[in-house]
Amino acid sequence: MYSEQAGLCIYCQQKLLPKTEKESNAHIRSHIEHIRPRSSYEFLTFDYCNLSVSCEGFDCEIPKTNQQPKKAFCEHRKGNEYDEDCFLNPIEVKDIEDYFVYDDLTLEILPKHKEGTEEFKKANYMNKILDLNHKKLIRMREKVVKDIERNGPYEKHEKQLPPFYSMLFQLGLL
Ligand SMILES: [Zn+2]
Repeated sequence: MYSEQAGLCIYCQQKLLPKTEKESNAHIRSHIEHIRPRSSYEFLTFDYCNLSVSCEGFDCEIPKTNQQPKKAFCEHRKGNEYDEDCFLNPIEVKDIEDYFVYDDLTLEILPKHKEGTEEFKKANYMNKILDLNHKKLIRMREKVVKDIERNGPYEKHEKQLPPFYSMLFQLGLL
């Protein structure tokens, strides 16, 4: 799954670090996410199409310590929330990028379509339940953009995508 997602979190697209066997519980920085929560969709518990890899809700590149930072966004924010009418499932919605736009100044992710449309409703719902504009995430996006402005685009990698790939694609920074 990690390879299928090219090394990025299914929701926020931060870069995930591969898990090592030595990693203790205190150092977990990604986990298997049930997109449709097990609480309401028990029959999908082992369905591959319902599984993905999500970050732990904080910057997973921070150095390891025994105290994990607070889990703030992505799956930990979403919990058991899943509205069939609004949820944009990254595995099922092939044109998911068409629902969002990045503000090139604030680096916030925003609904691309006008308020009042179905598309707006869905994108807005996703932003809220995952907290995709959490200040930590914004800071992480800023860091990536600044790195590229300073050092040029990330080197192309056969199996991995650069962090915040959709944002970089949209901002022309790939
Ligand atoms: Zn994430």
